[in-house]
Amino acid sequence: MIEINVSQLLKSPLGTIRNYEVDEKVNIGEETPHVRGEVTLLRTNRGILVTGRLETDIGLTCSRCLGKFRHPVTLEIEEEFFPTIDIITGSKVDGPDDEPDAFMIDQNNILDISEAIRQYALLAVPMKPLCKDDCAGLCPTCGVNRNLKTCNCPPAVDPRLEKLRGLVIDK
Ligand SMILES: [Zn+2]
Ligand SMILES: [Zn+2]
Repeated sequence: MIEINVSQLLKSPLGTIRNYEVDEKVNIGEETPHVRGEVTLLRTNRGILVTGRLETDIGLTCSRCLGKFRHPVTLEIEEEFFPTIDIITGSKVDGPDDEPDAFMIDQNNILDISEAIRQYALLAVPMKPLCKDDCAGLCPTCGVNRNLKTCNCPPAVDPRLEKLRGLVIDK
């Protein structure tokens, strides 16, 4: 959880900025990687705009060799958070009508950016992860990881070429 008390910032004039250092573990589903960086909190007319660049890494399984590896990701966060309580009157306020999934600041004026980080991190996961661009993958015959070992399986050959090879050997 990355919880920031923003009651002071909500009382501040529009345009007020506060920087917040992030250096914490954030749960993003299957794991809890360390997230580092800095976010800027800007008081807007509707709430607080959080922007910043965060670095983390996500554990992935290579789609070719099935090896596990860490994938570094940079998260460019830009999200507006909306208050649920009017900071001056203490009365309840609704989130924006046009953004039903908007991030909310809770009734204790705590802004929690963990959920935003989780969503950004999941979006940063590649569809077909590769441990390295030239990953050699698994041998289709014996299943050995060809990044680590060479096997003696003959390379898969087109059957038409197989005939030609017979000719060469018989010669
Ligand atoms: Zn691989
Ligand atoms: Zn093999």
